[in-house]
Amino acid sequence: MGKKIVVVGGGVIGLCSAYYLHKNGHEVTVLEKTKGGMGASFVNAGYLTPSHIIPLAAPGVITKGLSMMMDSKSPFYIKPRWDFDFFKWAWSFYTSSTKEKVVKAAPVLKDINLLSSGLYDEIRNSGDLGEFHLEKKGLLMLYQTEVSEEEEKGVANKAKQLGLEVGTLDKDQLKALHGNTEVVANGAVHYHCDAHSTPNVFMKKMYEYLKHAGVNIIYEEEVDGFDITDGKINAVRTKNHTYKADNVVLASGSWSGNLAKKLGINLQVQGGKGYCINVHRPTGIEYPAILMEAKVAVTPMDGFTRFAGTMEFSGVDYKIDKGRVQAIADAVHKYYPQIRITEEEINNAECGLRPVSPDGLPYIGRSNSLNNLYVATGHAMMGWSLGPATGKLISEIVDDKETSMNIDAFDPHRSFK
Ligand SMILES: Cc1cc2nc3c(=O)[nH]c(=O)nc-3n(C[C@H](O)[C@H](O)[C@H](O)COP(=O)(O)OP(=O)(O)OC[C@H]3O[C@@H](n4cnc5c(N)ncnc54)[C@H](O)[C@@H]3O)c2cc1C
Repeated sequence: MGKKIVVVGGGVIGLCSAYYLHKNGHEVTVLEKTKGGMGASFVNAGYLTPSHIIPLAAPGVITKGLSMMMDSKSPFYIKPRWDFDFFKWAWSFYTSSTKEKVVKAAPVLKDINLLSSGLYDEIRNSGDLGEFHLEKKGLLMLYQTEVSEEEEKGVANKAKQLGLEVGTLDKDQLKALHGNTEVVANGAVHYHCDAHSTPNVFMKKMYEYLKHAGVNIIYEEEVDGFDITDGKINAVRTKNHTYKADNVVLASGSWSGNLAKKLGINLQVQGGKGYCINVHRPTGIEYPAILMEAKVAVTPMDGFTRFAGTMEFSGVDYKIDKGRVQAIADAVHKYYPQIRITEEEINNAECGLRPVSPDGLPYIGRSNSLNNLYVATGHAMMGWSLGPATGKLISEIVDDKETSMNIDAFDPHRSFK
């Protein structure tokens, strides 16, 4: 007999959790506070990234970040503000940014990314969602400077040691790969293990599949409280309704820290804002790439090209800083001189908040204080890639099954000391 499960949040993590929980026979309701179609799960670069073995919290990131902060067009920004939660998070980020922790995180990140890539294939082959865009051309890390070249080749070596398929391209090989599209770069590392997709297409098809399958997805329904007795959540409350629940999955992205407080749980999550510009005219770009010096992601999606970037810690809101969007557009022109992003395209830029944990690893697991609460958030720059794996793992934990991989590193109650 299936359980009544309420999933809080209708992003990729919430919908993928609903997908696997429903497959296991549970009665699932997803509550989403927006009208749908917005936020991180819709504006991201669509990469599936086994290559991303280095978490955001890594040695040197803080120094680099601080040096960039004063530049209004830099890809990294922290808004100075008096926010105790942010100070606490920043300290945990600092203590997590050690070589030892990065070395420990790399194989775990690789494993969960590979698990998820396999599950994306499985979802596609199942035909549940019909056809959706998922291309396997790898990911190019384009560099213009020797510093970036050296940095990325170091990561590439580690990725190879972990068994990932990685190659390098010099200027001529890059040129050959791009045909008539001019690319200004000295070379690239090519992570053949990666893939790319079109988030809004997948999200729409997943939503339609779940609705059709009988999952109750309710938009404009903001969770604002919980009924708790004897260490158990009995119901989830919104302004006008109460939803009885045997289990609750917290998949509310960057808002999860505040909701966790209502549950008496300390969950450190900060929103890392990123922007995207969509160009709906031919750009000639056929290979997904990260423009290393500018930290801009370029993705040829289904019917358009997306340029995405910026990591801005400025609180939880969807305000758009036009200067930073312009900086993405300028960077694109520097690497692809034939592409000029128009004023209108810049004005149509969208943003989303990456739910960032202090150590760059997601939180996936059962709460140890409320035993019917399951946490699925904190995926930072990898939430798109890790959606299916997270959903699958959550469904396995809910059903007390053996998990598809060891999940100790994702413990929602881990310490960052
Ligand atoms: C510009 C950009 C590029 C990116 N590129 C990539 C990439 O290429 N590959 C990759 O793997 N990842 C990428 N990411 C990261 C990825 O998009 C996120 O990690 C992922 O979307 C997080 O999914 P989520 O479901 O946890 O959060 P969200 O998508 O934010 O969903 C959480 C949902 O919960 C809802 N919610 C919050 N509070 C409540 C409440 N009280 N009641 C009801 N609903 C609530 C919110 O409205 C929201 O819709 C990128 C992100 C950005 C911004």
